[in-house]
Amino acid sequence: MHSIDFRELRRRIAISDVLTLLSFEPTQRRGSRLRGTCPIHELRRVRNRDFSVDLQRSRFRCFGCGKGGNQIDLWVFTQDLPIHPAAIDLCQRLGIEVPWR
Ligand SMILES: [Zn+2]
Repeated sequence: MHSIDFRELRRRIAISDVLTLLSFEPTQRRGSRLRGTCPIHELRRVRNRDFSVDLQRSRFRCFGCGKGGNQIDLWVFTQDLPIHPAAIDLCQRLGIEVPWR
C-alpha cells in the first residue's frame, strides 16, 4: 500500500477549506485568527468562542475539549476516522489528487 505525503497534502489543503466543509461560522474574526463554536465537541446550536483557528499557520486549538492540530487533524477529529482514510476522504470531497509517495 502506498503512503501519503502529508507535507504535500497540507500544502494543497488550507484549513479554511476544511472549515468550509464543516460549515464553520466564526463568532469572532481578528486578522487571520478566528474564534467560534468547536466543530469537534460542541452542539451546533451552542454558540461560543472555545475554538480558535489560525488561518495563516493552518492550526486550530479548542479550549473546551483540548483538541488541537492542523487542517488534516481537524478532519480526523470531526469525522472520527483514522488519518489515512480521513486524508483520502478529504481529497475526494475537495476534488484534489491524493499526494501518494
Ligand atoms: Zn472542542
